Amino acid sequence: MLYGLDIGGTKMELAVFDHEHNKLASKRVPTPTDSYDAFENAIKELVLETDRELNTRGSVGLGIPGFINPDTGKAQCANVPCANNQNLQVDLELILDRPIKIENDANCFALSEAIGGAGDGFSTVFGVILGTGCGGGLYINGKLHNGRNNLAGEWGHTPLPYHVFKLAGDDFPIVQCGCGMQGCLDNYLSGRGLELAYKHVAGEALPGKDIVQLFRRHDTQAERAVEIYCELLASGLGAMINILDPGVIVLGGGLSNFDELYELVPPLLEKYTLNIGQLPEIRKAEFGDAGGVRGAAMLNA
Ligand SMILES: [Zn+2]
Repeated sequence: MLYGLDIGGTKMELAVFDHEHNKLASKRVPTPTDSYDAFENAIKELVLETDRELNTRGSVGLGIPGFINPDTGKAQCANVPCANNQNLQVDLELILDRPIKIENDANCFALSEAIGGAGDGFSTVFGVILGTGCGGGLYINGKLHNGRNNLAGEWGHTPLPYHVFKLAGDDFPIVQCGCGMQGCLDNYLSGRGLELAYKHVAGEALPGKDIVQLFRRHDTQAERAVEIYCELLASGLGAMINILDPGVIVLGGGLSNFDELYELVPPLLEKYTLNIGQLPEIRKAEFGDAGGVRGAAMLNA
């Protein structure tokens, strides 16, 4: 059996898959974020309880909101403070008494969509999460691409170009990002970005889902906010298309459920890419929120 664990900042989920990637069971518990002992124990409980229930000894793959520093072996994951800078892999292998695999959660998402998902059959898949932040994972020629520091695919901290901000107006805000840089697309293409665009246009803040509803009722301010958002998204994706030349870009995260994006964004991509060959398809994730656990389980497939 393949166990996939998706570790989030508030919840962690374990899902069980067979070797054909069929989901057999899953359970969720809150993520202990203050005590590393409690965090480790919660994972141990989930895994050993599942072993007992299924009378098996599952292979464990872990998706984390961060990465393992290949030089130090320590986890870098700010959203789970107690696990940050810990020897997560070594410690969990010890308490679970088996080898485990750990990957960035966006990489797990990309892997899941590349095999049996919306990116199935493409040799190069860029998996993009448009959620509370912007994550990304690269699947190239049959495997995940990790890079020198396990950071590959982290496109969220790429600044958007100045001329694209100008399309939104001279006074469009250039956000100081938590990473230290300015104008990172994480602030503009996540849910916060749509809200920021609406606030810029309408002068008042609204949650993203309300903006989408107004857009569907042809509210002109919401339409303008979505127009700005799509322009910024096309620019961000265009930069990656020029570098990676993927066959498909799969969108996940909350904003991937905004179905109009799949009509509005592709025609804009030409402006931000070299005008050669075919542009990638932009597809919606097939496994939705389950992509994280599915990809984590597939790390051992
Ligand atoms: Zn940043």
